[in-house]
Amino acid sequence: FIELDNVSKVFGQAEYATVALKQVTIRMDKGEFVSIMGPSGSGKSTLLNIMGCMDIPSEGEYRLNGTLIQKLNDRELSQIRNKTVSFVFQNFALMHNFSVYENVALPLFKRKMSLKEKKEKVDYYLHKLGIADLSDKNVSKLSGGQKQRVAIARAMTAEAELILADEPTGALDQKNGAQLMELLCQMNEEGKSIVVITHDEKIAGYTKRIINIVDGVITEDRKKER
Ligand code: ATP
Ligand code: MG
Repeated sequence: FIELDNVSKVFGQAEYATVALKQVTIRMDKGEFVSIMGPSGSGKSTLLNIMGCMDIPSEGEYRLNGTLIQKLNDRELSQIRNKTVSFVFQNFALMHNFSVYENVALPLFKRKMSLKEKKEKVDYYLHKLGIADLSDKNVSKLSGGQKQRVAIARAMTAEAELILADEPTGALDQKNGAQLMELLCQMNEEGKSIVVITHDEKIAGYTKRIINIVDGVITEDRKKER
């Protein structure tokens, strides 16, 4: 499903170049639940961005569902992204000055479903994330933890087969973090493939496979029985 073969990523040029990923090879099947851990600046977000077709490798090959990603043009890239991937960004990337509801409904904008169906879906995930009472509020007025939950609800509403979440519990307290991980476990049981970046061993403990990355190199990749 996810196949990275000797993927490297370099930012900048010549003496200003940063090598963010060094010959990373990872295979993931459909339905996996994986966490990526590692120090700040080790290349975690870069790796997730490549998996989510937000960025392309400098070297090596990335295949998603068998499609070689770096051969695609921008339009094809955004098509495959919209069809396959839900992203929760480290900085949330919400639409400022829009309401919580509007942000969470965004992935459904172009979908062929009735307004009623859309509203039901949005309400379902607003409730799941415990932010239904914030529905009409402008997202710019929310706390960090509330914004994070809006970003997660938006990614879930898309109901893509691959959920990629960059530090999804970073702004949440322990209780909300645990609730989110329970929700992700549930979605994984329903068949979603999920990759989360986290610094927290406890959070990683909810997943079935842990990949460690240090200075752009995979140092550990272990699956566990649950
Ligand atoms: P953190 O835990 O702090 O989020 P990270 O593991 O996600 O860190 P990345 O964001 O993947 O780390 O960055 C890896 C390296 O690549 C860093 O040295 C960073 O400075 C560099 N880098 C990332 N994105 C860019 C960019 N767009 N332009 C230039 N350098 C970049
Ligand atoms: Mg990061």
